[in-house]
Amino acid sequence: MQTPLDRTTKYISAVREFMTVQGHATNAMVLGHLQATYPDISATTVHRITARLYERGELQLAPSGAANVLRYDANLATHDHFMCDVCGMLRDAQLGDLVRPAIENAIGRDCSISGSLTVSGICKQCHKEGA
Ligand SMILES: [Zn+2]
Ligand SMILES: [Zn+2]
Repeated sequence: MQTPLDRTTKYISAVREFMTVQGHATNAMVLGHLQATYPDISATTVHRITARLYERGELQLAPSGAANVLRYDANLATHDHFMCDVCGMLRDAQLGDLVRPAIENAIGRDCSISGSLTVSGICKQCHKEGA
């Protein structure tokens, strides 16, 4: 007999594993993946697990994109992103020390960039499909 606790533990490790492979994912993506293995898992359970991992500092929030859906990031280091405006694809990027001072100069005096940067554009895949 499995206790609900065993099941939750199993779900949590499945979510962790998926996020590690995926990098960035919404709750809907996590749910879709887990349902392949655990057809009974509910959206509420997935929401609870990702929220708990976020509270524990095992996940951080990624830029949400045009759809404005909450998206989690398994990469806990401070990093920048490239985001596709068309499909919402998100990729980790490191914009580097040369870029920040240039952007700060453009923004104006007394302003400094404290967080990570998200650069938007069109990804390779969408370029191809648009051609
Ligand atoms: Zn795209
Ligand atoms: Zn990221």
